[in-house]
Amino acid sequence: DMSNAIVAQDEMGRPFIIVRDQSTKTKSSGLDALRSHIQAARQVSDILRTSLGPRGLDKILISPDGDINITNDGATILTEMQIENEIAKLLVELSKSQDDEIGDGTTGVVILAGALLDQALKLIEMGIHPIKVANGYEKASKIISNHLDNIADEINIDKNDLSNNLLDSSDLFKAAKTSLGSKIVNKNHNQFAKMAVESVLKVADFNRNDVDFELIKLQGKLGGSISDSKTINGVCIEKDFSHPQMKKIINNAKIAILSCPFEPPKPKTKHKLEISDVDEFKNLQKYESEKFIQMIDSIKNAGANLIICQWGFDDEANSLLLANDLPAVRWVGGSDIESIAIATKGSIVSRFEDLSSDKLGHADKVYEVEFGTTRDKMIIIENNEDNSAKSSLERTHVNTVTNLIRGSNKMIVDESIRSLHDSLCVVRNLIKNNKIVYGGGSVETSCSLKIMEEADKQKGIDQYAFRAFSQALDVIPMSLAENSGYNPIEELTKLKAAQISKNSPHLGIDCLGNNNNNMKELFVIETFIGKKQQLLLATQLTRMILKINNVIVSGKDQY
Ligand code: ADP
Repeated sequence: DMSNAIVAQDEMGRPFIIVRDQSTKTKSSGLDALRSHIQAARQVSDILRTSLGPRGLDKILISPDGDINITNDGATILTEMQIENEIAKLLVELSKSQDDEIGDGTTGVVILAGALLDQALKLIEMGIHPIKVANGYEKASKIISNHLDNIADEINIDKNDLSNNLLDSSDLFKAAKTSLGSKIVNKNHNQFAKMAVESVLKVADFNRNDVDFELIKLQGKLGGSISDSKTINGVCIEKDFSHPQMKKIINNAKIAILSCPFEPPKPKTKHKLEISDVDEFKNLQKYESEKFIQMIDSIKNAGANLIICQWGFDDEANSLLLANDLPAVRWVGGSDIESIAIATKGSIVSRFEDLSSDKLGHADKVYEVEFGTTRDKMIIIENNEDNSAKSSLERTHVNTVTNLIRGSNKMIVDESIRSLHDSLCVVRNLIKNNKIVYGGGSVETSCSLKIMEEADKQKGIDQYAFRAFSQALDVIPMSLAENSGYNPIEELTKLKAAQISKNSPHLGIDCLGNNNNNMKELFVIETFIGKKQQLLLATQLTRMILKINNVIVSGKDQY
């Protein structure tokens, strides 16, 4: 972690990093320091370069305790790598920021930052001051940002596609599908894209054009195959009914959601609870069963036909519930209880006295499912769309969805969850803002050409910085070409010539061999906000590193 390194500022307000180290006392500064920072950054971005795009390679990560993880996700690769170098760690942070804000483009942002630093180093070796390079980059990034506005396009979003069964032909579906192209689930990308779009459309708030990810659950369940994964309109919990003879399917469930224990309160007698003879014992028993009956009555009177309880209850209570035809689930964790309350629009009740019909949750169907040979059970609390659409005015359909991800081993389940998460992010970003740019390196190539053109209009050092920026952008189409088995320089040269002669910013790298490099025709898109964020974050980080002129590695005593 960063705890032994701090970013400080010198008297000119320039940042530098102090690394505390127990053993060595060295101080590197100036060009040497910068060179070593940039090399560290380049090592990290080189690792990710081979993962970029639909033909990118997955990485196998083995943790210190031997856990194996296979992934194509930039943020995950970086998080799992044991990175010691402080500058390299900044790239990890960069990828995480992109992940947090946007959720996609985590590989691209690191590759771009690495390339910007690499190009900067060339200028610095020529004798240009790092701050000048940083300032030139800043100017260039503003021009590129404007250029993105000019070449952006819009996609159609129709929230009724879902109810009209037009999902498969929707732009959102196509966008989700593209985002899954490089992932492990790509054999099932129709299914996963559909799950992503369905999940988002069901919980999206179209008044605010926003999507609350709390309402979209991703739950892994070992066993079965990826194609057994599905989206459930509601929640599922890893529990079973408290008694094997209870009903396994409850239609039109009215749910008492209890956060109080299902046990009688201690008797309020003046004496201590000491049982000295048979009569007292019988009295206590009578008291307890009366209390249980009262509790069951209050549940029945409220109209509940299912109990979800955060606490346990003993065998006596359990058989009483069975006898009263009240199926129950016990020991349901706090966060599950909350999700159930949200999904069923019920209230969590903490005292039996408070139970009333308006506090109950409602679900069209609650049922127990068993998973294959493992005998693992789950309870699914489901609302069918049409019914709940009638009962809720503010939301279009259901208000919680759970994507149950199946797979034969943990690696596959985990990576599938990450892939679906990325795809959900793309769809959510498009709901927030339906502007897009085209991918496959087309947008970077167009920006590279633009900034090269602008370079000639600059005076002084800026023209060098602009050209450096242009060459850094080229790394994206070149990496895509390389990962697809093409000669990167040849492809880039052809691509630039084609963009100029056809005056089209939509031409990119035909990674999948479609005999077509028009990304608009292939519907290879990236979200506009994601692309802007990549540009912004990569430029910011580069500028920050260029402005660090000293790394002082100090011993404990010296510090
Ligand atoms: P990231 O983590 O940065 O999203 P990915 O491995 O998902 O990285 O690769 C994204 C890159 O691959 C983008 O430049 C995107 O435009 C490109 N890409 C995705 N699908 C295709 C495709 N079918 N053809 C060409 N390029 C594609």
